[in-house]
Amino acid sequence: MKLSFLILYAAIAVSFHPRVGSAADYPLIPVSYNDVEMTSSFWRPRMITQRETLVPWAFDRTEPGVAHLQAAADFLEGKEVEDHRAHRFIDSDLYKVMEGAAYLLQLERDPELETKMDKIIAVIGEAQEDNGYLYPSHTTRVGTEKNMMGNKPYSFVVHSHELYNMGHLYEAAVAYYETTGKDALLKIAEKNAQHINRVFFEGDPKYNDGKPIRQAPGHQEPELALVKLYRVTGKQLYLDMARKFLEIRGVTYVPDGEGVMSPTYAQQHKPVIEQSEAVGHAVRATYLYSAMADIGALTGKKEYAEALDRIWGDITNTRMHITGGLGAVHGIEGFGPQYELPNAHAFNETCAAVGNVFFNHRMFLLHKDARYMDVAEVALLNNVLAAVNLEGNKFFYVNPLDADGKFPFNHGTAGRAPWFGTACCPSNMARLIPQVPGMAYAHEDDDLYVSFYAESSTEVEIGGTKVKLEQKTDYPNNGNIALLVEPEKKGVFRLNLRIPTWAQGEQFVPGELYDFVDPSSTPVSLEVNGEAVDVGELEKGFAVIDREWKAGDKVELNLPMPVRANRSRPEVEANVDRIALTRGPFVMCAEGIDNGGVTQRYFFEGKPKTAVAELSKIAIEHGSFLQATVSASAVAEDGGTKDDVPLVLTPYYAWNNRDFGSMTVWFPTNPNLAIYDPLALPKESVFTEITASHTAEEDTVTAIGDGEADKWSSGNKVLRWTSRGQPGQPQWIVGRFAETKNIRSVGIFWMDRWQGDVRFPKEWSLEVEINGEWKPFELYTTDKYDARANQFNVVHPAAPTKCDAIRIHITPQEETAVGIIEVQVQMEQG
Ligand SMILES: [Zn+2]
Repeated sequence: MKLSFLILYAAIAVSFHPRVGSAADYPLIPVSYNDVEMTSSFWRPRMITQRETLVPWAFDRTEPGVAHLQAAADFLEGKEVEDHRAHRFIDSDLYKVMEGAAYLLQLERDPELETKMDKIIAVIGEAQEDNGYLYPSHTTRVGTEKNMMGNKPYSFVVHSHELYNMGHLYEAAVAYYETTGKDALLKIAEKNAQHINRVFFEGDPKYNDGKPIRQAPGHQEPELALVKLYRVTGKQLYLDMARKFLEIRGVTYVPDGEGVMSPTYAQQHKPVIEQSEAVGHAVRATYLYSAMADIGALTGKKEYAEALDRIWGDITNTRMHITGGLGAVHGIEGFGPQYELPNAHAFNETCAAVGNVFFNHRMFLLHKDARYMDVAEVALLNNVLAAVNLEGNKFFYVNPLDADGKFPFNHGTAGRAPWFGTACCPSNMARLIPQVPGMAYAHEDDDLYVSFYAESSTEVEIGGTKVKLEQKTDYPNNGNIALLVEPEKKGVFRLNLRIPTWAQGEQFVPGELYDFVDPSSTPVSLEVNGEAVDVGELEKGFAVIDREWKAGDKVELNLPMPVRANRSRPEVEANVDRIALTRGPFVMCAEGIDNGGVTQRYFFEGKPKTAVAELSKIAIEHGSFLQATVSASAVAEDGGTKDDVPLVLTPYYAWNNRDFGSMTVWFPTNPNLAIYDPLALPKESVFTEITASHTAEEDTVTAIGDGEADKWSSGNKVLRWTSRGQPGQPQWIVGRFAETKNIRSVGIFWMDRWQGDVRFPKEWSLEVEINGEWKPFELYTTDKYDARANQFNVVHPAAPTKCDAIRIHITPQEETAVGIIEVQVQMEQG
């Protein structure tokens, strides 16, 4: 019943998104997500979780976005508007959730969800000014320079996100129209696009003294969204706007500051067609590259593809983690120097991995080359999927490749966080997952491509003949894929089957960064109707079967999936003398929960080649995944080593679903790199022991003597000690030295979070232990016990003080905890 409904519905849906007539386009036509029925036991439950958990819950969480729009609507109606918080991109998070919800309606129509959507759309319509402008903070005039919006509309395009938000609105509008045929949001989008065209390219008396602004969006997104608007409406204006925004980037406006105002941050350092390296904020970058691919394809201008080929090479050869993560460094949330790919400190924002998938899918359509789908798949199955827990309600914004169970990398939360004020990543997940079916099939003339394996079915027209395709497989959990080909009548066409890079023998993912330690591999096998077919030379990564097809033909492809060891280029410092293990398209990691605690203890001496692994399925409340057990070595507490110990590996995407402990992707091959306890004080610390009255579970007291401080007091990037769990209660910390020391100064780097749970102390003071007795620290006359942000607060003794330990007494502010990032003790010589 449901199946026939879906097929019928898919047939209707097709008519909403005709491929509009254009002189040029991608050579490959993808089969749209809404023409593919996804039955995969890997993907379908994720989509259902998304419909039942993530999206409803995301709608709850983006209610402030609706309230924000409602304020503008009320204002425009002449009503009194209560205070509403100015926020640059709060609307975009809502639009992204709406986009995700729209795709899910393809899975199954849902009147309740549509009613909700229609209500929100009505508010959006009322929040839009008559001329098409849509940005509540300027409509109600709460937007200011202080919150990076500029003092009036379009006065700070580089960071206001006025255009970025609209890009997400266009994408939501197109998706909702495609799945329901309802065009109210599409009309709002078109009205806004036409307004933007006037203001930016023609001149509108109300803005910028009537002169066209001609400045590219500070955060890319409208460009690719305008292309979608063009595809669905057929209106050339939108394609022209997208093209113009690309043409003026790095030409009409180049910021000349630092950090978020640097020329590279939003890729404005050069005209886009002259760019060769991936630089700046990684999400902005991948959205830009996706738009460049679209515009290059639709305008036939080769310079776009040439620039993208250079940039893609730069990314895959020098700046991509093995998980497909992009934007390795904190701070700019973007690309670092070439080969700077840290593991524990990797940033790898989820949104950048989502962007990597969008970018590479387009590169595949452009070049008909499987290697782009290989990158997209690795990014999707590893970095992107890791971003959400199996339950569908907790998220990683940051995706490191090593964790010690304490590291506060995720917006200050250890492990995945529930929804956060900056909700870009969860809402990006919400819109990507339902689009996955759209990556599975593509065609061109007499060529039919199967570009992504997952149990699913579709119907494609090849050379005038309708062909039904049905994939039967457990992929990506195993590599057996059966394909039933049902042409309406006998016909000759070429079936192109993607043979992933990892199945070809030499490396896991395209690019020069990683290769298999042992390149020999079990060959891929292919059969048609039970008869072996010689795979032969691949054509751009595809095995091609060129024959006359008839109803009932069955193709069987087997992609063996042993666990394999990977090494990285020596330029990647973090991975020197280390290997990572992969199985099929999955990067595998070890988690503390399966391996007796600390995963940093394990190592592989003698570099394993193809590791013998035992597979086992592990089922937890909200899903299941396949683990592999291999044999490794480990350091013991006494410094000795143990060989042949079992090491249980979990697919990287599934980590942190059972608890938050240590996790390792890159294992040492040199035993000296294995660490028994990564939380122990380093040998070079002035302290031999640190104890505290209380330490929060997610923090560690040894952090204050580990030699790692940060630039900021927020404490988000390095280990720290906090008294969370005991707000308002006085605390003490004792740091003991190996021998009696003569102290010159003590500096404390306090932690302070604007969210308010950990604040600077109300008061603090020091004591020193002399001959077994605690004595007050005699403070130098002009010193005081200070708590200044982003620095060490240093105090000196009035006279040289020989002691064996220091004790810090801390009185917190009312109802808050206190925290220390680092303590530095300077000694007198001799
Ligand atoms: Zn994000």
